[in-house]
Amino acid sequence: MHQLFARQLAAATSPAGELDLAALAGAVSAAYARSDRIRRRALARGRRMVRERAERHAELEAQNARFSAAIENMSEGLCLFDGAQRLIICNRRYATMYGLLPEHVRPGTHLTDIVDRRLEAGSFPAMTRAEYLAWRGQLGVRDTSHTVAVELRNGRVFAISHQPMPDGGWVSTHEDITEQRRAETRIAHMARHDALTGLANRVLLRERLEEALARTRRADPCAVLFLDLDHFKSINDTQGHPTGDALLRAVAARMRQLVRETDTIARLGGDEFAIIQESVRQPADATALAERLIGEIGLAFDIEGQPVATGASIGIAVAPTDGTDADTLLKNADIALYRAKAEGRCRYRFFEPEMDALMQARHTLEHDLRKAVAAGEFELYYQPIIHLQSRAVSGFEALIRWRHPTRGLVSPGQFIPFAEEIGLITQIDEWVLRTACREAAAWPDRLTVAVNLSPAHFRRGAVVRSVTDALSAAALAPRRLEIEITESLLIEDSEATLACLHQLRSLGVSISMDDFGTGYSSLGYLRNFRFDKIKIDQSFVRELSCRPDSIAIVRAVTGLCSSLGMATTAEGVETEEQLAALSAENCTEVQGFLFSRPRPASEIPALLSALDPALAAAA
Ligand code: C2E
Ligand code: CA
Ligand code: CA
Repeated sequence: MHQLFARQLAAATSPAGELDLAALAGAVSAAYARSDRIRRRALARGRRMVRERAERHAELEAQNARFSAAIENMSEGLCLFDGAQRLIICNRRYATMYGLLPEHVRPGTHLTDIVDRRLEAGSFPAMTRAEYLAWRGQLGVRDTSHTVAVELRNGRVFAISHQPMPDGGWVSTHEDITEQRRAETRIAHMARHDALTGLANRVLLRERLEEALARTRRADPCAVLFLDLDHFKSINDTQGHPTGDALLRAVAARMRQLVRETDTIARLGGDEFAIIQESVRQPADATALAERLIGEIGLAFDIEGQPVATGASIGIAVAPTDGTDADTLLKNADIALYRAKAEGRCRYRFFEPEMDALMQARHTLEHDLRKAVAAGEFELYYQPIIHLQSRAVSGFEALIRWRHPTRGLVSPGQFIPFAEEIGLITQIDEWVLRTACREAAAWPDRLTVAVNLSPAHFRRGAVVRSVTDALSAAALAPRRLEIEITESLLIEDSEATLACLHQLRSLGVSISMDDFGTGYSSLGYLRNFRFDKIKIDQSFVRELSCRPDSIAIVRAVTGLCSSLGMATTAEGVETEEQLAALSAENCTEVQGFLFSRPRPASEIPALLSALDPALAAAA
């Protein structure tokens, strides 16, 4: 403006130096008008700039507010550090997760100060300050994001995601996964432990055995002991499942006291347990442990104030002799256990290779027997029973035979006890009942048929139904059927068994006690149930001529039975001499090879005409 005014002034001055006042006045007013316009324009521009800056500021503020709201409302903790390890920002969740106060997390706080506060608060991993800072430093070197789970000294577990920033700083989010971890741990525990006793289960047993076997390969032998409680099933059935469960827990507790910390005890299900014993002194240590276990478990347990008695049978397999892999060792310990139980419980057995062969034979037998039941490979043979005084045939005892496709005719002693063990006996006995009743229905009406029923059939409770079904299907009069049971049925002496016997009796069926004199307290059973007939075991008959006490026993039994109103049948009569002795003792009936061996049903007419011509003629 000054320059402009100077130029106007020069123009208004004449070359002679005289001032043209009018021109000057015009120049001055023009100059003023011009500068006013400029000023106004500058003013407007200034105002606009102020307004724009205010708008931008407001927008930034709003953005900041949105950002804070976002990070404050995150469920995770968040923090941002710069390249100099100074805190730029963190949210409240971060501070509470680590037990930090607001003044501990002011922007600009150095990482080492936060570390010190966390050490005080206990929200620090199980490492030293230096270790932590070294670890933190390593994280900074990596340029990719990653997540780690960190367990703190206060027991919390956080999942930390770490994201490096270009300036050497980082942003990290922190999620509390403590509950999730606990649930996972619980599930993992459940998958490897038995819920009832807290012992290891089959899965963990196998893992531990595999670990132990890896060590075995390096030198230390180890033993697997399989343990099974005796009579557990009947305790469970008669005293109830809560008692059974309490007993299992008590057994587990006793076992825990007998093994070392390093040994593993597992419950494999039911009343089966297994122990892995690691020791250099094998088999001596396994022997000692087995003896201690049998001794301790054999002592009565106190279950809610009631004494409960059980016992333990144990099978042992030692690595590496009896197997170098888990499957073989477990299988062999099981085979040895089976042998211990078969030999009469409350004992232990070490595995022997011959046991394996026996086991294979059992598997084959089981397979064949199941097939036999399905395919109907059984036949009934009948042995006559002779009334001693009249010498007439009073009936026949049905005795089962198995026509095996390759082994030929198999006698019951070779498969009935096994069928009882594997639970096939009920099906077999039902078939015998139906067949015997059907075949007997074709005989002269005076003849009876005797059928042997296994105790297992009574235990399952279906026996009365089986008998009524068989009788009605064959239209056989109940008085013509005799059921033979053994003392072992009465050892259990349960109310249910006696009730079954009474029900059968009330149908009109007779009940005989078989193999009398072979049990422990035969006479006692005569008090519990009034049998129709007592069958004197063939062992007494066999020894009649050589042991005077045999005749005394036979005399006592026949005398007792006649006074109780029971008939007696002597079994296994093979000689005239035996027959004469039994006749002198007033036995009611006799049965044995002297008269006939058991014969197929088709031979009964011929047998009758030979033994009882009068009856055969009448038929
Ligand atoms: P048990 O009931 O004592 O049957 C008598 C056994 O003695 C029969 O053997 C018979 O053949 C045999 N025997 C008969 N007279 C003489 C003799 O004079 N001398 C000798 N040495 N033996 C004689 P078996 O048929 O081998 O039956 C053995 C056992 O198998 C039976 O003993 C019985 O306990 C059982 N059993 C047979 N059939 C059945 C059945 O259908 N069901 C069930 N559950 N068990 C059966
Ligand atoms: Ca019999
Ligand atoms: Ca018998």
